[in-house]
Amino acid sequence: MAADLAQADMLRSSAAEGMHRIEPGSTDGRRLDRLIAGCPDAFVEIDRSGVVVEWNAGAEAGFGWSREEMIGSFVADSFLSCAFARSPFGLLVADTTGASSGPVTGSVTDGSLEIQLDLRHRDGRRMRTEGRLIVLGQGRNRSVAAFLRPRDEPEAVPVDPATRPGTDPLTGLADRAAYLAHLAGAAAAHAGNPGSVAVVLLDLDRFKAVNNSMGHSLGDGVLVSVARRLELAAGDVDLVARFGGDEFLALVTDPGGDAGRRAEEFVTRVEMVLSSPIPVDDAEVFLDASVGIALNTFGADDPDDLLAHAEAAMYLAKRRGGFGVETFGESLRIEELDRMATEHSLHRALERNELTLHYQPVVEVRWATTVGVEALIRWDHPEQGMVPPGRFIPVAEESGLIIPIGAWVLEQACRQLQDWHLCAESGPRGSMEVNLSARQIDDPGIVGTVEEILARTGLPPEHLTLEITESALMRDAAAALVVLQSLKDLGVLLAIDDFGTGYSSLSYLQRFPLDVVKVDRMFVHELGMHGGGDEIVSAVISLAHALGLHVVAEGVETERQLETLRALDCDFAQGFLFSKPVPAGELRPQFGLRLDT
Ligand code: C2E
Ligand code: MG
Ligand code: MG
Repeated sequence: MAADLAQADMLRSSAAEGMHRIEPGSTDGRRLDRLIAGCPDAFVEIDRSGVVVEWNAGAEAGFGWSREEMIGSFVADSFLSCAFARSPFGLLVADTTGASSGPVTGSVTDGSLEIQLDLRHRDGRRMRTEGRLIVLGQGRNRSVAAFLRPRDEPEAVPVDPATRPGTDPLTGLADRAAYLAHLAGAAAAHAGNPGSVAVVLLDLDRFKAVNNSMGHSLGDGVLVSVARRLELAAGDVDLVARFGGDEFLALVTDPGGDAGRRAEEFVTRVEMVLSSPIPVDDAEVFLDASVGIALNTFGADDPDDLLAHAEAAMYLAKRRGGFGVETFGESLRIEELDRMATEHSLHRALERNELTLHYQPVVEVRWATTVGVEALIRWDHPEQGMVPPGRFIPVAEESGLIIPIGAWVLEQACRQLQDWHLCAESGPRGSMEVNLSARQIDDPGIVGTVEEILARTGLPPEHLTLEITESALMRDAAAALVVLQSLKDLGVLLAIDDFGTGYSSLSYLQRFPLDVVKVDRMFVHELGMHGGGDEIVSAVISLAHALGLHVVAEGVETERQLETLRALDCDFAQGFLFSKPVPAGELRPQFGLRLDT
């Protein structure tokens, strides 16, 4: 057997070095497959992202997991138990995922390592094993292969008691309290030594959507998988903890002042281990994370500062989207101070009535008559003048201030339309379009708020259109659907705003109870040019009409665009061609009357 192993080993490593490339199905390839298959030891090979690529009969017999179950699966989801994060195997896998890490680096480059480690049997028991690890290939093709032999019978010790104090009961990671205690200790021990403590805060993107659409128990399973993967990526990180919900924390200390670099290396490994999908029931979930890193620099030595900075950096990463990482530094510090100042004065703005609404007409394309207005918020800042929403809505969203601000906008806009209707006495009525942000859709009180405001202002619900951006809908489509249906039941109309800028899935037009599609001005801008812009808008209009929805073109600025929209049978248009958003006093819309452009 020893000879077999040595032979397989030699074939493998020479293949990996490219000295002797073995094609699958070739004579050598078949010989190698036979050697591996017939080897009584467990032979396991794992690629650089932690996915099992080889699992022989010896491994089936030794660990109880079948080849079918294991090939293609993520190693930490099954037989690597959580105690392995700090084991050589964990380190080695972490090492092959890209970054150099920890005490085994030297042996890794030698290509082989004697190991003893605990693995998990399929029945949940821990198994002491010994064997040899070999690093195969290079770069993207790098993998780790292991010949493993159980040292004795599986121990009857259940894995992960997870009931120790300081342990998160779901994932078995350290819990919030344990993390804070460690952090306090590290911060005190390294005070005055900048760059020696790094706090890494990791927040899963779209986890809420997974939880809502798949149910909480499957959601819990996903969190456990993520925890296992973080442990696998941990390497020389001091501590990995679950902070609560879908937030995880790591603590990195380095007396040499290199904690920042080591934190970044950890994050690189995390990105790698999260890049393979997490199996959930019959489906697979892909999760990105947003990561913020904070270092004990800039006079910020105490745990509260470090956590706040990591959080600020994480939010910035989240705003940038994708798997994002930000380190809290001077520019972010300024941005954060700016954000805090904005948040602070926004509080006062609400109290001091510095917020105001401008209105922009929505025009019927064929006859150029006004059919409604969109309410757009402005901040009449005592020093800065009119501040556009893009500068403060994101802050309002993050701080939660959007909830009272949004309610104020709704009430103000509904009241205004009622006033206009009263002034016009008779004649056609128009509609008021109000923007709702993602955070408002998440707010459990939103339906009640809309209902109360309609009741208070007396505006008939069919005169109110609520606009929700495509990206807000897509954040958590399942939850949004429930809220939209309840709003719809109140009798208001619903519009999807900035259509075409999110992850457009045309099928969502049918799934949500929508009345109106607002085509983003990016596409309107292309109209009449030779870039295929007409075709896109035309396709959206045809589909929307087929589904019984009306279409508003946003950002119409030229006669030519209007002409094209007319030819494409677009229903409504909005844009500077008709009017910029203006204060109520300058508008006095006359619904049903033709607007001269
Ligand atoms: P939106 O709802 O898509 O509003 C249209 C934006 O396009 C407005 O920008 C408007 O001034 C601008 N616009 C209209 N016609 C034209 C045009 O012909 N050319 C160009 N270049 N721009 C045009 P604004 O007022 O800066 O608002 C930006 C965004 O802020 C809005 O996009 C909306 O998403 C958000 N917003 C505005 N008011 C509120 C509010 O009360 N609550 C919430 N949650 N969001 C709001
Ligand atoms: Mg809008
Ligand atoms: Mg829009």
